Amino acid sequence: MTQKLLVATRNLHKLDEFRDMLSELEDVEWVSLWDVGLGEMDVEETGATFEENARLKAYEYQKASGLVTFADDSGLEVDALNGEPGVYSARYGGPDIDSDAGRYTLLLDKLASVPDEKRDARFVCVIAIALPEHDRLEDIPVVVGTVEGKIGYGPRGENGFGYDPVFELPNGRTIAELPDAEKHAISHRGNALRKALPVIREII
Ligand code: IMP
Repeated sequence: MTQKLLVATRNLHKLDEFRDMLSELEDVEWVSLWDVGLGEMDVEETGATFEENARLKAYEYQKASGLVTFADDSGLEVDALNGEPGVYSARYGGPDIDSDAGRYTLLLDKLASVPDEKRDARFVCVIAIALPEHDRLEDIPVVVGTVEGKIGYGPRGENGFGYDPVFELPNGRTIAELPDAEKHAISHRGNALRKALPVIREII
């Protein structure tokens, strides 16, 4: 029997990445928020951690849709900035900055005088999977994926989104210089998803 799963994200880049990576799963029909008429529903990210926000989104969209619901919260942590932008990655710099380029430029400016060896950073992705029987946020299972790297000195590459052009991997390439399949193989989202698959299979 085919199981319907709601991929609860309004970020079209993330939706594309999840769709790509999940296409190999048999017996699962993935639907988006727009497919179930919830494309306009916003869940405020009031949590202090990726985990809280992922659970919050999975919970609210599950209750609204009735479907098994998969939600993620992700972002960039920079050591020299005490973990900033963290859960504020999508809103870094506030409403005055309305583009990915504006946000990574702000980050580069803040790190202007920080030397190579202190530019360590990581992307973090937490995926939460909510079922109809989960009545409390803490009942909802979560998995975490990360990828370690450094913030460079300027943007490079055209692929990906967000902070990808300034996030350098140990091999010196930015994530935006990787083809999609290579990003999925090493990314925080790919790593989280690989941990989520057994949880999903158990549900199915
Ligand atoms: P969320 O929708 O609250 O999870 O926002 C996540 C934000 O973190 C995005 O808007 C990006 O700024 C950043 N981010 C998350 N994943 C990635 C990625 O794979 N590449 C680049 N930036 C990312």
